[in-house]
Amino acid sequence: MDRHRSYFETHEGAVYLHRGLTYVITRFDHEKGVVEATQKQVNYYTRARSSKSTTIIKQMDSIMVKGTRVGFGMLKITEQVTGYDRKLVSSQKSIGVMPLDLPELEFETQGLWIEIPDTVRDEIEYERMHFMGGIHALEHAAIGIMPLLVMTDRNDLGGISIPFHPQTGKAAVFIYDGAPGGLGFCRQAFDNAAVFLERTFEVIDSCTCKSGCPCCVHSPKCGSGNRPIDKASAKKILELILEGKKPETFNTIYEKPQEPVTQDAVGQAQTVYLPEAGIDRPLHYGVLDIETRRSAQEVGGWHKADKMGVSCAILYDSKTDCYQEYLQEDMDQLISDLAQCDLIIGFNIIGFDYKVLSGLSDFDFYALPTLDMIIKVHEYLGYRLSLDHLAQQTLGEKKTADGLMALEWWAQGEMDKIISYCKQDVKVTRDLYLYGKTHRFLVFKNKAGQQVRVPVDW
Ligand SMILES: [Zn+2]
Ligand SMILES: [Zn+2]
Repeated sequence: MDRHRSYFETHEGAVYLHRGLTYVITRFDHEKGVVEATQKQVNYYTRARSSKSTTIIKQMDSIMVKGTRVGFGMLKITEQVTGYDRKLVSSQKSIGVMPLDLPELEFETQGLWIEIPDTVRDEIEYERMHFMGGIHALEHAAIGIMPLLVMTDRNDLGGISIPFHPQTGKAAVFIYDGAPGGLGFCRQAFDNAAVFLERTFEVIDSCTCKSGCPCCVHSPKCGSGNRPIDKASAKKILELILEGKKPETFNTIYEKPQEPVTQDAVGQAQTVYLPEAGIDRPLHYGVLDIETRRSAQEVGGWHKADKMGVSCAILYDSKTDCYQEYLQEDMDQLISDLAQCDLIIGFNIIGFDYKVLSGLSDFDFYALPTLDMIIKVHEYLGYRLSLDHLAQQTLGEKKTADGLMALEWWAQGEMDKIISYCKQDVKVTRDLYLYGKTHRFLVFKNKAGQQVRVPVDW
């Protein structure tokens, strides 16, 4: 067995089938290349779990397909087997994931990549679909249909879905030849890139299953146990790409991989500027937060946020380094100031602030380029964290009051207190954004009470 396969199939604890007999691996010496196994009847089978990353070593070709770009070139694939899943033979139910401590595997091969425009991502997030689940499902479906386009087997292919790839400057789905050096499969698929994407869409669209099955978006080889997977999101992503609207800028892929963020002697992270066509000035961003006049309870629930009214809104402007104050009467000014920014940053801004503001104006707030940090965190963790929690764990800052307090101040006419409280929230939101931008992670406390990092890619 080759080295690569041995990591996946004969790690310690793996159940290995050989000539109809079941063996359990008792020793895996990856340095010497020795495996020991005991014949044993067990009621479970094992599936390795792995994490992967890729670097574009050399772009050899690229083509615009409807609303996006597909690239082709040499890739370096780095893979690590992190553990394995034990599943009951009878029901395929997982009976636990066991961790493994194995070195990384690395190889170079040919592959193609489908870039996912930010506008598509924004739309998916706005529709409250799972973006990572969507690109992951797209990857599986694309690999699944490749044997229909080129003479190959899905076992000869690999895939990686990345919500942010530093070289493409956006999310991308990579599909590569499984053998070092490449076998020409991805080259052939790339040469038919438009058909390739259309067929992938068709297979997802025509499958009658509800939320994904082995015929469309599930893969028996998935390194993360087919999670997260969002079939509807994959369908929507492909639909938006194939509609071909909304052109946007595409990074030049440098043949040399980007240097990662490096730490200098005093521990300060150096800023890495990613090439973004047409932008050679610092990003002009705004950080927004609002306070409302009425509580969710008073208006009949959070879904009626558009009835809550605004007591004050604060916008931090990165260009002037100032906090602007707005009252409900100043909506037009706020809208024109928001429109000046390249990016609006907030915490739960899409789910809440924009909804409240939409109740006061016909302006389409959702059309603003927006970074909602809660969505990024939720996407990675699968659950939400409060601004207060993240600020406390990441920045060591505690909240001075809460939203209910602000409602009380509104009732008492204490406008100054509301404004200074809202300003404080904007400052914390901005600092959290800047911390994530520099360090590429935020800190939170997990359910076991440990401080852990959540990677962020803004
Ligand atoms: Zn299906
Ligand atoms: Zn997968």
